[in-house]
Amino acid sequence: MKLTFLGTGTSFGIPVPGCGCAVCTSDDPRNQRTRHGLLLEQGGRRLLVDTPPELRLQLVRAGVDGLDGVFITHPHADHVHGIDDLRAFTAHADDRLPVHLAAEYEDEMKRRFHYIWGDEVRLNPGTTAPRLNLTTFEDRDRVRAAGLDLEVVAFPHGWFRSYGFRAGEVAVIVDAKRVPEDAMELLTGVRVLVINALWFGRPHPTHFNVEEAVETARALEAESTYLTHLTHRLDHADLESRLPAGVQPAYDGLTIEV
Ligand SMILES: [Zn+2]
Ligand SMILES: [Zn+2]
Ligand SMILES: [Zn+2]
Repeated sequence: MKLTFLGTGTSFGIPVPGCGCAVCTSDDPRNQRTRHGLLLEQGGRRLLVDTPPELRLQLVRAGVDGLDGVFITHPHADHVHGIDDLRAFTAHADDRLPVHLAAEYEDEMKRRFHYIWGDEVRLNPGTTAPRLNLTTFEDRDRVRAAGLDLEVVAFPHGWFRSYGFRAGEVAVIVDAKRVPEDAMELLTGVRVLVINALWFGRPHPTHFNVEEAVETARALEAESTYLTHLTHRLDHADLESRLPAGVQPAYDGLTIEV
């Protein structure tokens, strides 16, 4: 399987507009982080995780010319507000693009993007909306998406839940504050773990900080861990030097083979 980190920034993105901090003004391209997006490829099929605001730019940069499915972790703006960019692949396709979403968020997504799913919406001739086929899942469902078997897990994310999964040797945990006790076994022993981390120090109510993410990676006995959803409080090179063996920061455009 091939993983491509399309976007590795937290909800503000980096650089943050108007911010003059060392990371936002850094020359290191790894400190430029768009909002969360991840691509999993196996057997010529491609699964996109989340549709962030910079989705078009991410797809162009990664040379993606088609998708076979989309998995939405949760409907926070930084994870879904680029959904219209899926039109590039659906406008001229025969079939609707499968989108996998937690059942608890179906109403919210249909309300927010009523022009995609609403029955009352009539598009002007010559205009397009994404043509998507929404299917829903529950916590711990097995979901077949873009040829991959996903074992879905709901992670506490403040008042909300964010959904991730294990797909064979890979686990993806984004916008989590905790791994549920009864999901530890399912996620333990992966070769590659993708996990969210905001910053060092002060715990955040809805996200892992770096220490918590590293501790979780250790508890899950992950062989290689990649931190994502990073803020401008983390300089890539500095973060890399402070992490234990087997844990590293991801950056936009990074690809790995598993
Ligand atoms: Zn987020
Ligand atoms: Zn900054
Ligand atoms: Zn979130």
